[in-house]
Amino acid sequence: MNVLDPAYAASLDAADSLRAFRDEFHIPVINGKSTLYFTGNSLGLMPKLAQTYVEEELEDWKNWGVEGHFHARRPWMPYHEFFTDSLANLVGGKPEEVVVMGSLTNNLHLLMVSFFRPSGKRTKILCEAKAFPSDQYALASQLRFHGLDPKEHLVEIGPRDGEHHIRKEDFMAAIDQHGDEIALMMVGGVNYYTGQVHDMKTLTAYAQNKGIIVGWDLAHGAGNVELHLHDWNVDFAAWCHYKYINSGPGATAGYFVHERHHGITDIPRFEGWWGHDKDTRFTMPETFKPIPTAEAWQLSNVPVMAMAPLRASLDLFDRAGLENLREKSKKLTSYLQQVLEEVALASDSNFEIITPLDERGAQISLLVHGYGRPLFDYLMEEGVIADWREPNVIRMAPVPLYSSFEDIRAFGEILLTYLKNH
Ligand SMILES: *Cc1c(COP(=O)(O)O)cnc(C)c1O
Repeated sequence: MNVLDPAYAASLDAADSLRAFRDEFHIPVINGKSTLYFTGNSLGLMPKLAQTYVEEELEDWKNWGVEGHFHARRPWMPYHEFFTDSLANLVGGKPEEVVVMGSLTNNLHLLMVSFFRPSGKRTKILCEAKAFPSDQYALASQLRFHGLDPKEHLVEIGPRDGEHHIRKEDFMAAIDQHGDEIALMMVGGVNYYTGQVHDMKTLTAYAQNKGIIVGWDLAHGAGNVELHLHDWNVDFAAWCHYKYINSGPGATAGYFVHERHHGITDIPRFEGWWGHDKDTRFTMPETFKPIPTAEAWQLSNVPVMAMAPLRASLDLFDRAGLENLREKSKKLTSYLQQVLEEVALASDSNFEIITPLDERGAQISLLVHGYGRPLFDYLMEEGVIADWREPNVIRMAPVPLYSSFEDIRAFGEILLTYLKNH
């Protein structure tokens, strides 16, 4: 059976027990064409229920005013608490270890106030080379904040010459070599560029064994791959909700703080009233009394309207089940790989998939040797929404909640047509 045969893709869709979830999303129609959407790793699609949930909050605001804090359908006072069970499930934390708040880079900074505390010989941060720019800026500015020169105190581990992803043993070698000088290891658990999924469990234990605090940026991990942050003993993690978690542009983010760091009163932390003990919050005592959970890092009362779409998305994750989603995701990504290989063969093109086969989530990054921006522009014209990185990398992420096998097949056919003619 040719993988580009429409009947084959149709048979895969027919066998997909999650296919009905696609109808829970708005699939963008651009220039009259329903798009083939592969940028769930950048901005997830809108769950239809998001509109209902936002409208309900607007309605409750209209009807209740300030009383909505207690009488809204989902009272605003404890509003963020309505997310913790689902979110804990998604990242493998305990409910008291996860919080929805702020934005990813903000949260990374706030968490580093507590978890990057250089002292004595231990002053360095271990990270991946060419990390997402915001992470690079955050790490470098944290170092400078402590009077440390990033050139000297940021230890970056990159791929070896001629390779695209970072070997686990190279992280380990760096930990062996610099271990007692490193205060913090902060790495993207799933690399945003190559899609490589790091062995977070092993690396966390390896670094902690040398006295290093370990934080993971899970912007591309949350909602994509299996995470067991509690069991892996991760110190802290942060992620956003607009990528694989479909909660809208700039959606409220999330973070994890392991329970062993809870309830410590002398931990350095930037504090606000929403991190203060709930029983005495409104008696406005002078001294901050931290909630004995990850909520101690919260600052403000929560942006209800901005958070409502996340509830819609988490409902879908809860209904679909994480194991089912991951199982389908593996099938979609393998199928995408097969389609790309078939297209390369049929068009005699030498594509290079730079995402490791055995360490990946939903994303495949493709180096299109010999082709450039015009190829990508053609794909866009044909209704393919993918992500282009100069000079010649296409990133695609089929998402198990709404992508179909037919989306991938149709994309393959469009790509093949172009390559045969150019
Ligand atoms: C998407 C992404 C960000 C974006 O940061 P925001 O604070 O949400 O704007 C940061 N880091 C990584 C690794 C990302 O993938």
